[in-house]
Amino acid sequence: MTYLFKKRREREQITVHTMIRMYCRAHHGGRVLCNSCSELADYTRIRNIKCVFGDIKPVCNKCRIHCYKPDYRERIKEIMRFSGPRMIISHPLMALDHLIMKLKPHPDVVLVKKKHIHLL
Ligand SMILES: [Zn+2]
Repeated sequence: MTYLFKKRREREQITVHTMIRMYCRAHHGGRVLCNSCSELADYTRIRNIKCVFGDIKPVCNKCRIHCYKPDYRERIKEIMRFSGPRMIISHPLMALDHLIMKLKPHPDVVLVKKKHIHLL
């Protein structure tokens, strides 16, 4: 199945993994992920699967919960800073998709709106 036919949450995980790979290749050499980046990639996958918002998961940098442990959070932020701008050139589709996902309101907002409509 191609990227665009996958669920939003899965697409985000693919994008994050791609960004970790990009960072690792530039900073740690090899074609395959080093142990440290591989561990981080596994961690992001677990956080993604366990996200309390399920399929309405917001993009991580817009989320108010911050479920990452501080050291993992710092590492992923550094990776995003490095790979983010490079994604536009190397993976424009993923970059655009992520940008669109960013525009979606945080789930809390959606829930408040639904409640409001319900009250009316
Ligand atoms: Zn690495």
